[in-house]
Amino acid sequence: MLDMFARLRWCDGGLTEPSEPRNFTPSERGACGCGDCPGAREWAPRSMIDVPAMTELPARFAAIVGARNTFSAPSDLRTYECDGLLGMRIRPEIVVLPGSTDEVAACVRLAREAGMPIVPRGAGTGLSGGALPVAGGIIIGTSRMTRILAIDLPNRRMRVQPGAINLDLSRALAPSGYYYAPDPSSQSVCTIGGNVAENSGGAHCLKYGFTVNHVVGARLVTSDGAIVDVGAWDGSADALGYDLMGVVVGSEGLLGIVTEIVVRIMRIPEATRTIFATFPSTDEAGAAVSAIISSGIVPAAIEMCDALAIEAIVAATGVDWPLDVGAALLMDVDGLAIEAEHTADAAIALMRDCGAIEIRAPRDAAERALMWKGRKSAFAAMGRISPNYHVQDGVIPRKDIAAVLREIAQLGRDAGLRIANVFHAGDGNLHPLVLYDAAKTGEEARAEAVAGEILRVCLRYGGSVTGEHGVGRDKACYLGEQFSADDLATMQLVRAAFDPLGIFNPDKLFPTPRLCGDVPGRYVAHPLEARDDVGRG
Ligand SMILES: Cc1cc2nc3c(=O)[nH]c(=O)nc-3n(C[C@H](O)[C@H](O)[C@H](O)COP(=O)(O)OP(=O)(O)OC[C@H]3O[C@@H](n4cnc5c(N)ncnc54)[C@H](O)[C@@H]3O)c2cc1C
Repeated sequence: MLDMFARLRWCDGGLTEPSEPRNFTPSERGACGCGDCPGAREWAPRSMIDVPAMTELPARFAAIVGARNTFSAPSDLRTYECDGLLGMRIRPEIVVLPGSTDEVAACVRLAREAGMPIVPRGAGTGLSGGALPVAGGIIIGTSRMTRILAIDLPNRRMRVQPGAINLDLSRALAPSGYYYAPDPSSQSVCTIGGNVAENSGGAHCLKYGFTVNHVVGARLVTSDGAIVDVGAWDGSADALGYDLMGVVVGSEGLLGIVTEIVVRIMRIPEATRTIFATFPSTDEAGAAVSAIISSGIVPAAIEMCDALAIEAIVAATGVDWPLDVGAALLMDVDGLAIEAEHTADAAIALMRDCGAIEIRAPRDAAERALMWKGRKSAFAAMGRISPNYHVQDGVIPRKDIAAVLREIAQLGRDAGLRIANVFHAGDGNLHPLVLYDAAKTGEEARAEAVAGEILRVCLRYGGSVTGEHGVGRDKACYLGEQFSADDLATMQLVRAAFDPLGIFNPDKLFPTPRLCGDVPGRYVAHPLEARDDVGRG
């Protein structure tokens, strides 16, 4: 196995067997032999190291992070084979869990010396395969770096380690009347480091902005093992010069490993009014969303569920939502008490004008929490109505919600598959859940094909292939349909400025159509995988 990896090298298209081992320069094209790679990477260094050195690596990593935080046994590595994108699995060579920035830097230096690709990992809840391992590579996980380092109320800043769980920030702040605004539905388990890498959103990002609007500084370990601070690291003022913090947020773990983060914190609003409204179909619900936003109201959140999503949510969480409706909206408006009251009344009037069947307000905090639990548990709730599902993440103009949902329903009918929709309607950020049964031959492939076609519909309406889940491995092949070759080459230049050898997350984000047999569409096993020489699960 190790011998096999020593002979392998990477190009933009994945693993290839070189005709003869050699090192590449970053600018060398076609190093993989496909003759067409725009960014063939230098980093065949594995072909340059001797195999006995590989066998010593676990002990060398253990010397940095401790033996109990170093994993190389196949049974231990299985835990790290995939993230939330369960359909793709690759076993890493080694997993390490450092406890400090210095340990992360030392691990990066050793991995680089050994020619190992590095995949940063938070909680592994990502849905686009961003934390999917690279065969023969190392996972550097942040699950030991969970501390809240400082809370600075006068400057409304908080400094945390990357493995801190999103919700723990707000829990720590609550006694002071503050909170951390971005609230992905996975917030009880996902990490701030993962949020930074994915520029995560959440229901309440409509009014308050995504992660990028709340991270002001970060400490980063770059591919040469250097420790650099970007953004307003001292937490007190905006950084001068280029917005490097903006570059790092959303970079999907390709530019370095974030080891400390300074975030903005906000006062908990004086009042929040929650409204639950049902509609005959997604047409009326979509029209209500457009009417509310175009009237000038900016709700803190406005989320939509269609009939199938409501069925699953009711079965899983026990909310008493009606099952005989076509769609529901769950909305929060907040601010000063008088403002929230006035805005809620105006929004309710618009919902009625658009054909709302029933409008409810929760009786108390417990009922409000249950309503939001229903919404935030929606993905997991799909298990009640389908053995498997593929969650898609695309963006469209808000005004086109109804038309796009009709097209998505048609795609489902054509493929003989059900599609549930539960999404951030105010942002036009769709999450169609394509339901399938993996035990039925061909259904998984049909579901993946439908999920891909949904992205094409989003692009046709002027939208995007991702709103918040990232491109990762899953959607890399669609990025070329959204961006021109020049755009992608420019993005590669930015990446190369941080990581010239492409050590971090080498097979993520950038598309490789036409190259090395990697074409958009269903995954086709590499001959080496087919021979069982390298694993995918
Ligand atoms: C049920 C469910 C609901 C979800 N709801 C939402 C939602 O509402 N909004 C939303 O935006 N997302 C949502 N997600 C997706 C996911 O939770 C987010 O993308 C989250 O930010 C991932 O965090 P993580 O800690 O799990 O990161 P991981 O999955 O471990 O990693 C994600 C990416 O970040 C990189 N990374 C992780 N840590 C670091 C670091 N310290 N430095 C550099 N790179 C790093 C990884 O390499 C990978 O590319 C949901 C997922 C699930 C399963």
